[in-house]
Amino acid sequence: MPRDAMKITEIRAYRIELPLREGSYNWSGGNAVTSLDSTIAAVETDSGIAGYGEVCPLGPAYLPAYAAGARTGIAAVAPNLIGVDPRELSIVNQKMDQALRGHPYVKSALDIACWDILGKSSDLPLATLLGGRFGPDFPLYRAISQDKPESMARSVARYRDEGYRKFQLKVGESVERDVERIRAVRENLEDGDVLVADANGGWTQHQAIRLAAAVSDIDVYIEQPCVTYEQSLAVRRRTTRPIILDEVIDSIPALTRGISDQAMDVVNLKISRVGGLTRARQLRDLCVSSGIALTIEDTWGGDIVTAAIAHLAHSTPPEYLFSTTDFNSYVTVSFADGSPNRQNGRMSSPSLPGLGVKPRFDVLGKPVLTIK
Ligand code: MG
Repeated sequence: MPRDAMKITEIRAYRIELPLREGSYNWSGGNAVTSLDSTIAAVETDSGIAGYGEVCPLGPAYLPAYAAGARTGIAAVAPNLIGVDPRELSIVNQKMDQALRGHPYVKSALDIACWDILGKSSDLPLATLLGGRFGPDFPLYRAISQDKPESMARSVARYRDEGYRKFQLKVGESVERDVERIRAVRENLEDGDVLVADANGGWTQHQAIRLAAAVSDIDVYIEQPCVTYEQSLAVRRRTTRPIILDEVIDSIPALTRGISDQAMDVVNLKISRVGGLTRARQLRDLCVSSGIALTIEDTWGGDIVTAAIAHLAHSTPPEYLFSTTDFNSYVTVSFADGSPNRQNGRMSSPSLPGLGVKPRFDVLGKPVLTIK
């Protein structure tokens, strides 16, 4: 029997500032943010079911994505979704691509909101629809803002006391300084603790090769050493340290090339970089099928992004889930009920249908955009 049709009747966007608990977050190239500008999408249907999504670029200078662009892009894409069945995710994505070529981050909040509706209308949590919940929970990493080596070591010690066992150091400054940072932190870790040095593309090729040689005796992963794929691949071919690729893996063709070249051991998959859960799931499944582990996360976000991450992470086989992170704990503002909270460095996905979170509109305020 055919299901009852469902149609999108209205799309709204909200803007919310998410100040950082630590005051600022610093990474390579002198980049820093103190507060994140996040966009929440609400998708209404004629069935009475509504879905919610979120996109939160890490400032305007991290990826080709920025907060005002997300909202402008949603205004451009949303009219093409009115009347579409939100549960038909491939059609939803085709409609968005027809309205706006590229700009995957713009589409991410809308795609997530449609997944939320699919889950609610089928009475299943997204983790079930994305493949099933593997075990009770999964491990988190903590990103450590770039600072003096001793400050970063103190920060790692503090988060280790809170239960985290995986740490991602923001490096990509000078080789000497970054080696100091890696050594200062690793000295205080124990066997089984995981250390990643993430340059966010901040080293030139020769710097990255020197860095990799200087830490060849240390148990550390090197993440996105250089800005381009080709430079990072050159580093990969000259180091024994495991390599994680992040910013350059922005599509299926980029991923398949990386797999073919054996360019990385782990992929850092950010939901909005590839355009939402529909495409993130495709990349996740391709990685798992190819034996590549994943960090599953996003550029940033609050309660809704954290829930979306949790569902995709929880439905990933544990042997391939390298780590994920709980962005809602990095910021001082909560705007939805039911978002996952970490316990002892681990997290689990909500068990309610859909994303399992309920936005608090008293916190979100009035929409900045309404399309019907
Ligand atoms: Mg990274």
